[in-house]
Amino acid sequence: MQIIAAVVRERSAPFLVETLELAAPRADELIVRVVASGLCQTDLHGRDGYYPVTSYPAVFGHEGAGIVHAVGGAVHDFAPGDYVVMSYPWCGECANCRRQRLNYCLNARNLKNKGTRADGSTLLNKNGAPVCGAFFQQSSFGTFALTQARYAVKVRRDAPLDLIGPLACSGQTGAGAVLNVLKPNAGDSFAVFGAGAVGLSALMAAKVAGCAPTIAVDVHEHRLALARELGATHAINAGRCADVPGEIRRATEGGVHHAVDTSAVPKALREAIESLLPGGTCVLLGSARAGTEAAFEMPFLQQGRVVRGVVQGDSVPREFIPKLIDLMMAGQFPLEKMIKFYELADINLAAQESAAGIAVKPVLRMPQNPAG
Ligand SMILES: [Zn+2]
Ligand SMILES: [Zn+2]
Repeated sequence: MQIIAAVVRERSAPFLVETLELAAPRADELIVRVVASGLCQTDLHGRDGYYPVTSYPAVFGHEGAGIVHAVGGAVHDFAPGDYVVMSYPWCGECANCRRQRLNYCLNARNLKNKGTRADGSTLLNKNGAPVCGAFFQQSSFGTFALTQARYAVKVRRDAPLDLIGPLACSGQTGAGAVLNVLKPNAGDSFAVFGAGAVGLSALMAAKVAGCAPTIAVDVHEHRLALARELGATHAINAGRCADVPGEIRRATEGGVHHAVDTSAVPKALREAIESLLPGGTCVLLGSARAGTEAAFEMPFLQQGRVVRGVVQGDSVPREFIPKLIDLMMAGQFPLEKMIKFYELADINLAAQESAAGIAVKPVLRMPQNPAG
């Protein structure tokens, strides 16, 4: 079928909106009419060639939400018309997948970034010339996307499809790190470093869990203002504060129980660790480039502190995303406050405003497809 999608023709080139041909779904796959898709740092990393397995031309996008358009012959748990979010892929066969640790799938790199199905087949072509799709096994920057049914999450029929795409990645990454990993008790203290889409999702989840105080650290004043609006009791501008851990210790009972770093900046990770109370936990959610090293003092770990990385919030998307939607629709997870909408045709502006920190969470609205 014909689709309209944003194509990156070569590494670091701008997105071009083009008409492409999308493959028919195999037995275990489905096609989603994409209503809207979040744009995440990872998409721009893909555009800019951060992943050695990526080739071009390519279509990115991995926070797609929409309506099931067609299902393969072996798909029985979805039907055309179902509302869905498409989440991260996993192989189902590796040492981690066999233990249901799907978000740490050993084959995730290829499934997310190689631009083909697991067997190497491509999903998209332009006049017969292959185009890499299957980014996160979905490539949601288009009017239709093909994914395996097992990566799709059915959501309630009154869910606002233009808002919920970001739950597929940044939303569950931040909120899951808090609710699935840190599991704070009411009254625990909490700090988040980096008030972007992931950090603010973590903050909203900390608020849901009853954390207090809740501290946001960032270098952009408008993001700190948004963090306050979303419930941060304290906001610290790291660009103007010489001693962030000291400031956090003063604002709390000598440190926080839980810290989240979304920046992947070594200095911020160190400050997050130094802000912890003995026995506290710091999770790293930001994706650092290979070769990035961070330092901290070893005695900090001897005091029972934990430092660990988390991918996709340790979320099981089919359980966690519907929960986040329920919270959102009850007004407790106001994701809409961080979203800025763009038409697909304005994707380069969205990318630019995202990189500049102007748009916290850009969401692309897809055009009506004449072939749809
Ligand atoms: Zn696996
Ligand atoms: Zn993402």
